[in-house]
Amino acid sequence: MSRFWSAVVDGLTPYVPGEQPKLPSLIKLNTNENPYGPSPRALAAIRAEIDERLRLYPDPNAERLKAAIADHYGVTPAQVFVGNGSDEVLGHAFLALLKHERPILFPDVSYSFYPVYCGLYGVDYRTVPLTETFEIRVEDYAQPNGGIVFPNPNAPTGRLLPLAAVERLVAGHPDSVVVVDEAYVDFGGETAIALVGRHPNLLVVQTFSKSRSLAGLRVGFAVGHAELIEALERVKNSFNSYPLDRLAIAGAVAAMEDRAHFETTRQAVIRTRQWLTLELDRLGFEVLPSAANFIFCHHPWRDAAELAAALRARSIIVRHFRLPRIDQHLRITIGTDAECAALVVALRDILVR
Ligand SMILES: *Cc1c(COP(=O)(O)O)cnc(C)c1O
Repeated sequence: MSRFWSAVVDGLTPYVPGEQPKLPSLIKLNTNENPYGPSPRALAAIRAEIDERLRLYPDPNAERLKAAIADHYGVTPAQVFVGNGSDEVLGHAFLALLKHERPILFPDVSYSFYPVYCGLYGVDYRTVPLTETFEIRVEDYAQPNGGIVFPNPNAPTGRLLPLAAVERLVAGHPDSVVVVDEAYVDFGGETAIALVGRHPNLLVVQTFSKSRSLAGLRVGFAVGHAELIEALERVKNSFNSYPLDRLAIAGAVAAMEDRAHFETTRQAVIRTRQWLTLELDRLGFEVLPSAANFIFCHHPWRDAAELAAALRARSIIVRHFRLPRIDQHLRITIGTDAECAALVVALRDILVR
């Protein structure tokens, strides 16, 4: 604590992102980045945007991007909000839609940014335990709440809540906003965006970081009833009027329009996930069914932290969380076929010792 700090800052517990090591030779399977590059059309659009127009502010409403997203999902631009990564969109949602008298609910094993936003904005929360097999049980949320938020597929488990169950949850809490964080939905789930037309309390949040391979560009968005979107706009316009720069708007529009690249790369990730699941199973791991671009697994008689350290010694980084219930699990991002094959070779070598 410094005497210059506000009491708010003194009380914060910030999020700790997965490590971004500077060594180029590492096989990096720890932060769920896409192993394939972004759409070449997105890269070309970004390059074409680099000229003297950077002197000018970008469109504060990113209207071109909202139109492209609205077109892709069959909604209106007034139902779309865009932000500097979905983390920013989620942050605005906590302040704009989830900060009420009653505590909000989210799973006990979930995205560790949620309690951080609660700390920043003074939002009360209660965690709801996942089942033994790490599933969300909709009935467990039948308690008074100021809102509900969860990733679908969940992180770091990769488990998917089927769309019908999402709708039961949303319909069961008509007086609360339900935020569905779909960062990984394109790798095996069905988006709940189709439900926003009939549920004014549903906000679906997505990102360009994972399935569109643009984590470095920082673009995320939300789709929901225009009233929910307006609440997000009010927070955004009280914080930063230009969260998306010119390059980000141009790149994200082109990425959204390049459906072919999106389709082939996500199918490649899904195929590799299926292969890696089988291989890990053959090595004795217990692997949760994943609908995401990562796998969550544990070995019945080998310590997870030791496995992660042994992999690191072989220049492969995976994610291990020192957290209750999951400290014997590893979260492994789906890399290229070659990276995943190298992982299997390394694990085979580690496990025979
Ligand atoms: C990666 C991730 C995000 C956010 O990503 P941005 O890069 O900020 O768009 C949000 N939620 C979950 C669960 C994630 O894993």
